[in-house]
Amino acid sequence: MTVRTRFAPSPTGFLHVGGARTALFCYLYARKRGGQFILRIEDTDLERSTTESVNAILEGMTWLGLDYDEGPFYQTQRFERYNAVIDELLNKGLAYRCDCSRERLEKLRVDQMARKAKPRYDGHCSHRQIDPDAPHVIRFRNPPDGVVIVDDLIRGRVPFNNEELDDLVIRRSDGTPTYNLTVVVDDADMRITHVIRGDDHLTNAPRQINILRALGHEPPRYGHVPMILGEDGARLSKRHGAVSVISYRDQGYLPEALLNYLVRLGWSHGDQEIFSIEQMIELFDIGDVNKSPSAFNTDKLDWLNQQYLQYADPARVARLLSSHMGHLGVDPSAGPDLAEVVKIQAARAKTLTELAEISAFCYQDFDDYEAAAAKKHLRPVAREGLEKLRTAFELMAFEDWTPEQLEYVVERVAGELEVNMGKIAQPLRVAIVGRAASPGIDETLMLVGKEATLRRIDKALAYIDARAST
Ligand code: GLU
Repeated sequence: MTVRTRFAPSPTGFLHVGGARTALFCYLYARKRGGQFILRIEDTDLERSTTESVNAILEGMTWLGLDYDEGPFYQTQRFERYNAVIDELLNKGLAYRCDCSRERLEKLRVDQMARKAKPRYDGHCSHRQIDPDAPHVIRFRNPPDGVVIVDDLIRGRVPFNNEELDDLVIRRSDGTPTYNLTVVVDDADMRITHVIRGDDHLTNAPRQINILRALGHEPPRYGHVPMILGEDGARLSKRHGAVSVISYRDQGYLPEALLNYLVRLGWSHGDQEIFSIEQMIELFDIGDVNKSPSAFNTDKLDWLNQQYLQYADPARVARLLSSHMGHLGVDPSAGPDLAEVVKIQAARAKTLTELAEISAFCYQDFDDYEAAAAKKHLRPVAREGLEKLRTAFELMAFEDWTPEQLEYVVERVAGELEVNMGKIAQPLRVAIVGRAASPGIDETLMLVGKEATLRRIDKALAYIDARAST
């Protein structure tokens, strides 16, 4: 049997991290078994589905590298097929027309609730003859008794009493098919062997199994993935900050870091934290996913992203960083090779956005000093050191402007003044970078270049003088 999984989002919003995790699990399950992974867009809710959302889903999938073997299939292009199946069910007596009014259904519900019974359709129309030309819906004739077992890959065996499942509407009065019907037809037609999806669909599984059986199909295996919670224990939503996959890209996360983070949400392999996609394919198994929900932890994602930023190819990080620089109004062509900056700075940033912020000093002068850093380091006592450094730097030839030579010069000036390195390196750093944190002073100076170094020292000296005179 060839394993075939599908990711079947409804395009009613962006691709969120929960959906991305489901897609990743489907992808890994198929890839590990040499199977196929299919993308299906469930756009039958015409009012809520949008093209922007479809595009956001496709963009998210591409960015994450979750390539699908078939699709995207669109349910709105398959209405004819769904209607043919509904007609087949009708003809075989496995479905029936129902013209119960809204008022009747509402009264039924209220009475059932008053009796503390679960609201469900009472089968009023199941044996009535209804004029096909008068307004009506079509209901599936659910088996009246017995038990449906959902043999779930994550939850184990979950039994549902047929008595609790009513005769569900499969075609609305406007002629459109409903969710449970379209999913069943597609899963059967697309020969899906494993349905991996959010556990909000667990209660749909017995209904879908019944319809599949009525159509003469063997149901697929199901795996219902527990949801993701926010750090406060509530279901993850927009209110917890970024939840859309694309917003993580825009904030400067690498796709492989997000995937790595998502695979570890509710799944582990010993105490290993870093997984390449190949390792995920090899090691991940849906059966090992935790039954309980897991909480999203941004610190952990940040940590992973920082690891990936450090070890990814600097040229690739530089390409990605370039657009983040652009957002800050920094032109990376106006200074050192961005890949060199990445090599030196990557370990210091959690995201590309942060990397852009802490690297902007290499390309343009900053406006203000960080207040605490200036207060502490740009004082009159620093003046002599800065002046001496300036003179020494000015005398250096451009070809000598290397980390080794720069370090030697700073050490020599410190020696002349009989102070330790830190005493002159910190004011110098604040003068050059605007704040007290940066890579080694030698590398910092090298990146900034001779001209900007002299200019920024002059600015710092003026700042010290201005401060002294106030
Ligand atoms: N379209 C459904 C959703 O986005 C998923 C249906 C399924 O996976 O069976 O929640």
